[in-house]
Amino acid sequence: MIERTLVIIKPDAVKRGLMGEIISRLERAGLKIVAAKMVWARREQMEGFYPSDEGWLRSVGNKTLNSYKEMGLDPKAELGTDDPVEIGRMVKRWLVDYMTETPILLLVVEGNHAVSVVRKLVGNTLPYKAEPGTIRGDFSVDSPDLANREKRSIRNLVHASDSPEEARREIAYWFREDEIYSYK
Ligand code: GDP
Ligand code: MG
Repeated sequence: MIERTLVIIKPDAVKRGLMGEIISRLERAGLKIVAAKMVWARREQMEGFYPSDEGWLRSVGNKTLNSYKEMGLDPKAELGTDDPVEIGRMVKRWLVDYMTETPILLLVVEGNHAVSVVRKLVGNTLPYKAEPGTIRGDFSVDSPDLANREKRSIRNLVHASDSPEEARREIAYWFREDEIYSYK
């Protein structure tokens, strides 16, 4: 079950000097860093990294709509629309703004069940819901109501692939095969 997953240390973590802390949590758990690269991504690069098919936009938009429903807020009043695809597009634009603020650190992380283990160490997408002991839970309290009101992405410190298939695509997007190392 040795898997590889992509971790990105996002601009809020870079600015706050949390790169070392985050890497050390991955290493402490027994995961292996097999590739690393700092990149100041161009907008087009970031736009290509996040999917733009309607299915993905709809799913991101629906998550936003759900958090509005949970908080009893009217999406139309807040965002000018309640169409999930349009909201997904808006969230993606904010995400690209966020991810291009500073350089980011790209890591390929390898280990037993690496994809799900890293997601567990990272914690819930929404930092205010992330458990203490997780990266997002320990270092952020951001929430979608605040982020959407300020028309920006939720700042949640790290990206981690969601499934082995997503991991394969995401790793290949940033790394050539000869930039990923194999060592004992
Ligand atoms: P992740 O896999 O846990 O990072 O979450 P997703 O893949 O669903 O979303 C990608 C990124 O978009 C998240 O990490 C957040 O930075 C941002 N994001 C997700 N949902 C929302 C939202 O409802 N509002 C805002 N402003 N940003 C969001
Ligand atoms: Mg994701």
